[in-house]
Amino acid sequence: MMDRRTFLEMAAGSAIAAAAPARSAFASPTKSDAMIGIQIGAVSFVDEGAEKVLEICQQDASVNTLFVATFTYGRGIAGRQVPGQPLPDHGAQQYDTGTFRGGSYTQYDPKYFTNTTFKEFRAPDLGSYDVLEDVIPKAKKRGMKTIAWFEDVFSSGLPGIEKLQEVELSGKNATTLCFNNPNYQAWMLGIAENWARGYELDGIMWGSERQGAFSNILGASHGHPNPERVTCFCQYCFARARSMGINPDRAKQGFLELERVVIASRKGTKPKDGAYVELWRLMLRYPELLAWESLWTSSLRAAQKSLYDKIKSVNPKLGVGWHIWHNNSFNPIYRAEQDYAEMAPYSDFLKVVMYQNCAGERMVDYVNSVGSTYFADVPKQELLEFHYRVLDYGNEAGMDRLSETGFSADYVLRETKRAKADLVGTQTKLWPGIDIDIPTEAGHARCTPEGTKAVVKAAFEGGADGVLLSRKYSEMKLANLRGAGEALKELHLA
Ligand SMILES: [Zn+2]
Repeated sequence: MMDRRTFLEMAAGSAIAAAAPARSAFASPTKSDAMIGIQIGAVSFVDEGAEKVLEICQQDASVNTLFVATFTYGRGIAGRQVPGQPLPDHGAQQYDTGTFRGGSYTQYDPKYFTNTTFKEFRAPDLGSYDVLEDVIPKAKKRGMKTIAWFEDVFSSGLPGIEKLQEVELSGKNATTLCFNNPNYQAWMLGIAENWARGYELDGIMWGSERQGAFSNILGASHGHPNPERVTCFCQYCFARARSMGINPDRAKQGFLELERVVIASRKGTKPKDGAYVELWRLMLRYPELLAWESLWTSSLRAAQKSLYDKIKSVNPKLGVGWHIWHNNSFNPIYRAEQDYAEMAPYSDFLKVVMYQNCAGERMVDYVNSVGSTYFADVPKQELLEFHYRVLDYGNEAGMDRLSETGFSADYVLRETKRAKADLVGTQTKLWPGIDIDIPTEAGHARCTPEGTKAVVKAAFEGGADGVLLSRKYSEMKLANLRGAGEALKELHLA
């Protein structure tokens, strides 16, 4: 019998043959066209000086593209090392616990934000420093490209932000913003247009690490979402649902019933027919549960498409693409929602997160979470093995060791091949996101130069068009950055 892997390879192969003589989707990139990227927050350029940072990135890892974090309220891509984690061997040897705020690390023109109530979002952390103004000319001189990189992460309590916020199942406002809300739509398009017109950029990347209410109420991510806080149940989502023939009141009723089951399961109370059967009963009774999830995801896709169209209307040469959340590696529901072929027409590139090292503890966290909700009837090790099967992973560690080992380079190889197969016949570039020193808990897997080297090689072996070293330079050890550089030299890409 043909296994799934062989089938995928054959399917990909025949598609390539059919597309000849166009350049094969699996053609290895060359030194001149491989994208070697790194994510860097503004604070690193301020702390170390832009020239020095660029010098290190070029020398140690042959970086040719900078993904500069221009906007976020999160510490994942901005700010210095996360407090409590060891400081790396460069940069200010001090945490920014008291000073990190987040926001926009560039200036912006208020004229782009007339149609939104969220108008004041300049990051106060670094004074009047404008990261793009500083970095772009220096990068250009060195032949490096610059991509503005921003994410869907906000804080509560910012002036004018309440009108953009999602509404939780409980009825309270969420910290997250709603893609169907015209105030948020206007803000997103405003910031993208501002950067596209105001700076000599090479592209813009945006990321949203969120999912809809169905996946969230089941706890299906590595963050153990709280069932009462799932989103979105705002007036704009209700209106969009009605326009699509979905009854929002039925959806909300279904979620309230599912919420009771999940809360009881989390406390160890088993529904009489088991948690899994109970979920199916509710899905059959309330098909709106799934319709609501699709509504959320289609709203995200609409946001991406409108960003793409806006940026291209300003300058068609700007590359536009998306960061794909790590939950894609754990939750099969979320993975089903990431249809790369469907996204390709409005995606010049995809950064698919394949953070090999922190994946270990995150997968354990995910299994523990769904293992106490809809899979509460299944022992955790069996549940992990089930996920390895359905996600098509190879010989990864068991629940007892996975946090300490992380995932192997084979995970990056398989995920790259899978994404590449999904993109056959499209123009979309695939740039796997590689984990360099993403924080993990004490005693859990940590990056090494050898491990970093192995995953970079695995990504290119799997057909990647480049790699994006992640999450931020300010948490990376230079020895691990050099591990990536060594792989690139061996692959003749540096
Ligand atoms: Zn909404």
